Amino acid sequence: MRCATTGCSDAPQDSAMNLAQRASRFLSRHTDRRLLPLRGEVGVVSFSFDDAPMSACMAGAAVLERHGVRGTFYVAGGLTDGVEEGLACHSEAVLRRLVAEGHQLGCHSFSHVHVDRIPAASRREEFDRNAAFLGGLGVDLRTLDFAYPFGGVNVGAKHDCALRFRSSRATGGGTHVGTADLNALRTHRFYRSQPDGVSYEERLAVAAAQRGWLVVNTHEVQPDAGAFGCTAEDLSRAVGLALEAGCLVLTVGGALDHWMGAGR
Ligand SMILES: [Zn+2]
Repeated sequence: MRCATTGCSDAPQDSAMNLAQRASRFLSRHTDRRLLPLRGEVGVVSFSFDDAPMSACMAGAAVLERHGVRGTFYVAGGLTDGVEEGLACHSEAVLRRLVAEGHQLGCHSFSHVHVDRIPAASRREEFDRNAAFLGGLGVDLRTLDFAYPFGGVNVGAKHDCALRFRSSRATGGGTHVGTADLNALRTHRFYRSQPDGVSYEERLAVAAAQRGWLVVNTHEVQPDAGAFGCTAEDLSRAVGLALEAGCLVLTVGGALDHWMGAGR
């Protein structure tokens, strides 16, 4: 959900970063890279929901299910049953339903913190605590995928996450073509606002034409979505366009299985 201090959500907070933080974020593009070759017959699109707001778990999941596909919900266990900025967060019951329906739950820290701004020991505690939470919901912790809260990645956080998670996802940056850095996956931010200045349609076209991988991230899915969410209608249109373009629509975990299988 929204970060109360920045009023922003899962987007790189460049304006709030000092020079050292900016430098570490920049450097992290070149450290701990683990490149996944993307060799397949068609493009892949993955839809992910950061924080797993209740509306995403209900309306968002329903949209995907109507199209016969599933999504990835990056969960911070500490937000369970909470309300932030008037938006209801997920409940354990609804997360269990998502798992039962074949959606994927990923890790998003436990307390929804900037993992790039806390000591390594605190990161470890956050990951341990959320792993315990997700493990209790039946998530396979051996193949846990992660999304950096607020897109906050730097050299230290990326290194720790590389050791811990199958993949770690940042925010923004667009379509992967040829390879993807598993420790800093890029996304299209499918928000009511368009922070990247590049449309979903453009990025989808690249994924389809070049057999790439487009990971989409958003938050709440409701009629009066805020700047970092979307409506069910827009989400449904996006999923429909991906399928019409001939892309596979897979969870992040499903896409990794797909690419790893195709690369053998
Ligand atoms: Zn978040």
